[in-house]
Amino acid sequence: MKNSAILVVNAGSSSIKCSLFACPENNLSLQKIYYLDMTGIGTKTQFTATDANGKRLIQQDLQDADHDHAFSILLSWLEQHDNGLNLIAVGHRVVHGGTQFSAPVALTEDIFRQLEQLIPLAPLHQPHNLAPIKTLNKLKPQLLQVACFDTAFHTTQPAVAQLFAIPHSLTEMGIKRYGFHGLSYEYIAYSLPHYLGEIPQRVIVAHLGNGASMAALKEGRSVATTMGFTALDGLPMGTRCGTLDPGVILHLLKEGMELKTLTNLLYHQSGLLGISGISNDMRELLRNDTPSARQAIDFFVYRLGRELGSLVATLGGLDALIFTAGIGQHAAPIRAKICEDAAWLGVQLDAGANQQHGPKISTSNSQVSVWVIPTDEEQMIAKHTKRIVVLADSG
Ligand code: ADP
Repeated sequence: MKNSAILVVNAGSSSIKCSLFACPENNLSLQKIYYLDMTGIGTKTQFTATDANGKRLIQQDLQDADHDHAFSILLSWLEQHDNGLNLIAVGHRVVHGGTQFSAPVALTEDIFRQLEQLIPLAPLHQPHNLAPIKTLNKLKPQLLQVACFDTAFHTTQPAVAQLFAIPHSLTEMGIKRYGFHGLSYEYIAYSLPHYLGEIPQRVIVAHLGNGASMAALKEGRSVATTMGFTALDGLPMGTRCGTLDPGVILHLLKEGMELKTLTNLLYHQSGLLGISGISNDMRELLRNDTPSARQAIDFFVYRLGRELGSLVATLGGLDALIFTAGIGQHAAPIRAKICEDAAWLGVQLDAGANQQHGPKISTSNSQVSVWVIPTDEEQMIAKHTKRIVVLADSG
C-alpha cells in the first residue's frame, strides 16, 4: 500500500466530484489529498481543485463540456498532480444496487451489465454514476473499480418495512422501499463509538442536506427509512416534494400534465423551493422573514417531527438522535425547533452546545442524547474500496 492512492468518484447529472485519498501503510485511516469538483456540466462548466486544507489549486471555466470531456479533464489534472502516488483503485458512488447488491463490489463486465439493468429504477442518477466506470474501463482496463451503493445499507430492513401495499406481482418486479443515503448512514454508524463511546440500541439519524432523509438504526443496522422506491419519498427536501398523496399525481396526469413536466415539478420545483417560492437553500430561508419562507421552514420541521415519531415506533423507543449533512450540521435554529417538538420523547436541548454545533447538543438530563456528527460518504467509499483492494491482494 506504500505510496498508493484511491480515487473516489461521485458523478451526478450535472456534476462530477472526485476525492483522492492516500493510503498510508499499516494505517487504517485514509488521508484526503485533493478534492476535485466539476460543476455545470453541459451548461457553464467549472472545474475546481482544492487541497486537503481547502486551499484552491485551480479554478477553470470550460465551455459547456459534456460528461466524458469533463471527466477526462479531471483525470489528466490528477495525472499531472499525482504527488508520487500510485492509483490502485477507484471507488464509485452508485445510487442503486437493486435487490442483488447488499455490499460494495469489485466491478466486472457482468456486474456492470447488472447495474445497467437497474437504470429504470433510478433513471436520473444511475446512468451518470455508471458513465465514468465505462470511461475508466476503456482508459485503464487493469485498474480495480469498486461500486458502493446508496441502497446497500438499507437491505437489512425487515421485509415488512420494504413493502408497499400494491399487488404482489409489482413487488416481485422490484417495486419496493429501497431507501437511499446509505453511505452516509453507514459512515455515521461507523462513527458512533467515536462520539458516543458505543453503538446505542436505538438510534435515529437525520441526514438533512439538499436531499434529506431519516433512518432508524437498531444496533447500528437500518430497520426503517423515510425514502422509498426513489429518492423523492419521505421528508420535504430542497426541491423535492417528499411524501405526497399518489392521488395528486393521478390528478395532474388526468389534467394533461406531461411526464417530463411532472418529473421536473416533483424533483426540481417542489420542497422548500416550491413552498417558499424563494429558495431551496435553508440559509436563505432562515434569513428571510416573509410568511412563505417561514411556512417552508415550519413545514420542514413539522414533517420531520412526524417522521421522527413514526421511526421511533419502529424502534420501540429512542436512545440517540443524530443530525448530519448541510442543514443537520449547520442550521442550529432548525435543530432547536426539531428538538423542541421532540420534548415528548424526553429530548432536552442544550441551547449553548447547539449554537456551537455540538458535537453533543443535549443536556445531561435528556433521556435521549442528541448529537451533531459530520457525515463523510467519500471516506466511506474509500474505506470500502481499500478493503476490497486488500481482499483482492490476499486472494
Ligand atoms: P447535498 O444533498 O447537496 O449534499 P448538503 O449536505 O451540502 O447537500 O446540504 C445543503 C443544504 O445545507 C442547503 O439547503 C443549505 O442551505 C444547507 N446549509 C448549509 N450550511 C448551512 C447553514 N450554515 N445554515 C443553514 N443551512 C445550511
